[in-house]
Amino acid sequence: MSACLFCQIAAGERPATIVQRSADVVAFRDIHPQAPTHILIIPTKHIVSVAELAVEDEKLMGRLLTVAKEIAQQENLGQGYRLVINTGSQAGQSVFHLHVHLLGGRAMHWPPG
Ligand code: AMP
Repeated sequence: MSACLFCQIAAGERPATIVQRSADVVAFRDIHPQAPTHILIIPTKHIVSVAELAVEDEKLMGRLLTVAKEIAQQENLGQGYRLVINTGSQAGQSVFHLHVHLLGGRAMHWPPG
């Protein structure tokens, strides 16, 4: 079994509330939601963070955003939503497998903390 928490979720080795699954992308509900809708969208490929992206990952990153848009529609987030990719510990990244946070269902503030 992989040592990476999100690789384990992607492989079905650890429970999660899966929202959408395909060969290259998995989306599941965040265990500590920060908004009424809080979903994590991850590549099944283990990529540590945006800082580790390779040119070959460009299409995959586009897929993450397209899946985020589809899920936002399913979750009725037509009034708006926020996509966040924390990159590195100072930015608040705590799980080192690249993930997009999809947050919605409440008013958001700017700048973020
Ligand atoms: P980040 O701090 O940007 O790395 O985000 C990691 C996110 O993963 C946090 O919002 C956590 O609440 C979430 N998280 C950690 N463990 C799990 C888990 N087992 N299932 C779902 N979400 C998780």
